[in-house]
Amino acid sequence: MLAALESTKEAIARHKTFFVTTHINADGDGIGSELGLARFLRKLGKTATVLNSTPTPRNYRFLDPGNEIEIFNAASAPTDFGHVEAIFIVDISKWERLGPMTEFVRHHPALKICIDHHPVCGDFADVNLICQEACASGELVLDVINSLSVPLTPEIAEPLYASILTDTGAFRFPNTNAKTHLAAAQLISAGIDAAYIYEEIYERCSHGRVKILGETLCNLEYLHSGRLAWMMITQPMLRQTGVQTEEIEGFADMARGIRNVEASLLFIELADGKVKVSLRSKGNVDVNKFASRFGGGGHQHASGILMQGPIESAVNQVLGETSSLFAEAQKLVS
Ligand code: 5GP
Ligand code: MN
Repeated sequence: MLAALESTKEAIARHKTFFVTTHINADGDGIGSELGLARFLRKLGKTATVLNSTPTPRNYRFLDPGNEIEIFNAASAPTDFGHVEAIFIVDISKWERLGPMTEFVRHHPALKICIDHHPVCGDFADVNLICQEACASGELVLDVINSLSVPLTPEIAEPLYASILTDTGAFRFPNTNAKTHLAAAQLISAGIDAAYIYEEIYERCSHGRVKILGETLCNLEYLHSGRLAWMMITQPMLRQTGVQTEEIEGFADMARGIRNVEASLLFIELADGKVKVSLRSKGNVDVNKFASRFGGGGHQHASGILMQGPIESAVNQVLGETSSLFAEAQKLVS
């Protein structure tokens, strides 16, 4: 970690032009980390663009009032970004998670620096500032800023606070510790409005979201004597309520909150027929390991899978293997 931090500082000092990117369907940590990092690089006099493959979800758009985030265009990217000297990839350490940008970034001649807190899956970038103990990638971006003794501005602090807030489930998940709160305290001291950020992210949901949440929870089912809860959201449900898939964030966390439930699974039928599975767990149950069986990944207590449809077969395939979730956890305690 210390060596990677030194290499990251060196890369920042040596280069002048950057772009920063994150995973497809970016979440609060992806968006917050890249905006905080890009603004910090600009404060150092560098050129830094944020380039994503998918649009910013509605509840994070307030973080980008000046539309700093550009959407990747395969046709113009070589001209627009071919000259960039260094690329920061935040909140992922797997090429496929860059979606349509994968090949462009992977084969770009620039130096690649990864800042992430997911379990490592082997060699990724040229410099890998990866720390699983960090609650969010935004916490690692803050470490980089602090290591260079650069004072924070509210414009840098706001997205970094959003990153920590969202990846810790508003300071509730087990990845929240003393360092998380120290980081939050430092960011708040830089002059941001923490209550405003919370409201923008969590308290502006649509009527349709509440309706589909009700419907989804009504149809929740249990398996393995109530240790597993699972739910499903189909395209007709999304169409009838006028809800975008990006608005579904947080549903899987709710099912994990049920007494005796150790793992919760949410299946979402996407518009292109593929199926997104969100997995959550508590205690020893490792959904990251489970998700990797299906080509997915994430963290021990929060992971995701992207699968081929139809949804019924994805559900059967995944649920059919869930007894292994508890067998693995049992092995750890015995
Ligand atoms: P969510 O269910 O909120 O989309 O994602 C939970 C966690 O799993 C996040 O840390 C995210 O990075 C990871 N994740 C979500 N979808 C995928 C996926 O398709 N592949 C991999 N490797 N990780 C994912
Ligand atoms: Mn993250």
